[in-house]
Amino acid sequence: MTETITHIVLFKYRPDISWTDFESHFSTFLALQTRCLHPSTGKPYMLSLRAGKNRSWEPFSKGMTHGFVLEFANQEDLDYYLTSDPVHLAFSKAAGPLIEDSVVVDIRDGILFGSPAKRPGTGPGNYSGSCHCGQMAWTANLGTAEHVLCHCETCRKLGGGPYSCNQIIPREDLSITRGEPRVYVYKGASGKDVRCYFCGTCTSHIYHHQDVMPDKVIVRTLLLDGGDKMPATGEIFAEGRLGWVKELQESLVNGAK
Ligand SMILES: [Zn+2]
Ligand SMILES: [Zn+2]
Repeated sequence: MTETITHIVLFKYRPDISWTDFESHFSTFLALQTRCLHPSTGKPYMLSLRAGKNRSWEPFSKGMTHGFVLEFANQEDLDYYLTSDPVHLAFSKAAGPLIEDSVVVDIRDGILFGSPAKRPGTGPGNYSGSCHCGQMAWTANLGTAEHVLCHCETCRKLGGGPYSCNQIIPREDLSITRGEPRVYVYKGASGKDVRCYFCGTCTSHIYHHQDVMPDKVIVRTLLLDGGDKMPATGEIFAEGRLGWVKELQESLVNGAK
């Protein structure tokens, strides 16, 4: 039985895209077939890539104007393409602002029943994170998917925002899956060392590790996929809250999410 998977993608683009944007988007997409390289062989692994504009006269396109049909030898290759391939991830990031809506379907020829593929590297509570430039990626297993806001001066100084969004998890529940972080060491409120691990290229903060709780790490929850959907449930160093930032309780009562 063949393991080949056909990955079908339909795009509806934003109406205000320039021709130059379109041209570079299409040429970058088509080039993925040769530019995406397998992590162990170093060779192209996409079996085929077909692309074209919708020409159906039937009124069923749902606004999707272009179709892309990609073939992969197996689910592992497709998973790598979707979650880890740096060339594809960079393309996706650039394409995001051009796309208004999309449809994605993966099929295995002739298989009409059965369950969908398992989301790679995830179980309940497992989230994947990435930095702004994409050179670093990680997974974090959160006990509960929620943010705790920190209003301390260090977070404001390091992050440049009114507070940071975090969760403290066991050290073994964080794994760096791509790249090597740089470290900045400073003294925490306790007088002991705190290490800030960040992407050396784009400076995104991935996590902190404190000598006062060596078995735990503090992960930045907004850098995880789906982090923007998590509720904020607590806050610490509330005395540092800026005058124009509402108390979390008050924000929640007023219905803000
Ligand atoms: Zn980065
Ligand atoms: Zn803080």
